[in-house]
Amino acid sequence: MKPQGTAAQHWIPFRENRAECRLCPRHCRPKNERMGFCGVRGTLEGEIRSFNYGQSLAATEEVIETEAVNHFSPGARILSMGNVGCMMACSFCQNWETSQTQYLDYQMVRHYTPQQVVDICLANQIPIISWTYNDPVVWHEFVVETSRLAHKNGIKTLYKSAFFIEAEPVNELLECIDIFSLSLKSLNDEFYRKQTKARLAPVLERIRQVAASGKYLELSQLVIPELNDSNKDVEQTIDWVLQYIGAEVPLHFVAFHPAHQYTHVERTSIETLKNARELALQKGMKYVYLGNTHEPDLNNTVCQKCGTVLVKRYGLHSQVENLDSHSNCTQCGTRSPILYPLDGINQSSPGIKFSTPKQLEIHWHNEAQSAHILQLGGQGKTDTLSIRSLGIERVTSKTLSAGLDRFILSRHSSEETGILISWDSDCHYQNLEVLDRAHYPTNPGSEQTISFRTCLEI
Ligand code: SF4
Repeated sequence: MKPQGTAAQHWIPFRENRAECRLCPRHCRPKNERMGFCGVRGTLEGEIRSFNYGQSLAATEEVIETEAVNHFSPGARILSMGNVGCMMACSFCQNWETSQTQYLDYQMVRHYTPQQVVDICLANQIPIISWTYNDPVVWHEFVVETSRLAHKNGIKTLYKSAFFIEAEPVNELLECIDIFSLSLKSLNDEFYRKQTKARLAPVLERIRQVAASGKYLELSQLVIPELNDSNKDVEQTIDWVLQYIGAEVPLHFVAFHPAHQYTHVERTSIETLKNARELALQKGMKYVYLGNTHEPDLNNTVCQKCGTVLVKRYGLHSQVENLDSHSNCTQCGTRSPILYPLDGINQSSPGIKFSTPKQLEIHWHNEAQSAHILQLGGQGKTDTLSIRSLGIERVTSKTLSAGLDRFILSRHSSEETGILISWDSDCHYQNLEVLDRAHYPTNPGSEQTISFRTCLEI
């Protein structure tokens, strides 16, 4: 039987048996039984239908810093939900194996209902759902419905996107999303057209739409060697942010790792990132951060008045220091920009001991200082693991329940050399190296792959 998809919003009739999708500025007009550019929305008997409603990568517990969000509840745990398909096609995509449907193995795709996503959060006390990885724009209906349900259950929502989207769907998001983390690839329209197959102007307009709404916003730019890493490129971004968004918005310059069609360069150097940060600070930006680095002291938030460190950061780890519950600097009383400063801390549980544990040992190295830990064979059972740092004295535990079977561990400090995970259930655990934040590592070479496109052919 042919897939029927689910009803989609944001489209208009076009010609007989065709329709025009108005979700993103591409305005695809797929012929009957054909997909649009994103590969997950298509025309069926004169209507645009969504073919990826609830079709997701494994729900994964991470921390809010994974999403280039530094001023909202530091250290808060999030449930990262990544769908499939994308309205862009970046040559340098860091998640191309899931964003570009022609490469996606259908065996990786899970099916969730809005209630199941909320139940995972409630059972595991995860306070925020993050719509992330490839791009949440192309499963808009599922995002909106689940976010509304999340709010009814006291769960907050985060939207991490390249934001090539139309204004009307953004108005819906403004009603049900609490935190926006938006990425600006460049201030050069030719760059957008050539390297991302999108356009710059709609992205800028939509970022301004969010900023004008007063919703919580942080901005980031992936800095890619030879593509957008010159002083001119960086200064254009800074000037635009200063003119239209303001000096107070946190701005992240994020290191790139070679991927997809852009593999002839090295990772972005720390010198390049430091240079971008210095330019932004000189021009008057107040809070500038560097993503995908483990350089000490570069990513701390300091009091703008007395210079006291308010939040200390190492990689994805945050430690709130010298802030009271009202977000005032405990040294001089100045109000900091950090929202809910104490909500995200003290969320890890104390360690436990097993008599005859099974174990998995991970060693950090320069290319990978975080890992996704996958539970295999658990079939939704509750399981508890002990997590011991190697190189430093630190032991915590982690309980997985209600179908949550994937979570991130990241390097805690430069002295921590690795992690030893122990458990005594019948489950198995495997690790996949996370190359950079918001990177979703795919399962290593299963013997037979099933093309996602084939499964969706209508
Ligand atoms: S969401 Fe998909 S189908 Fe709709 S206009 Fe954008 S790329 Fe085309």
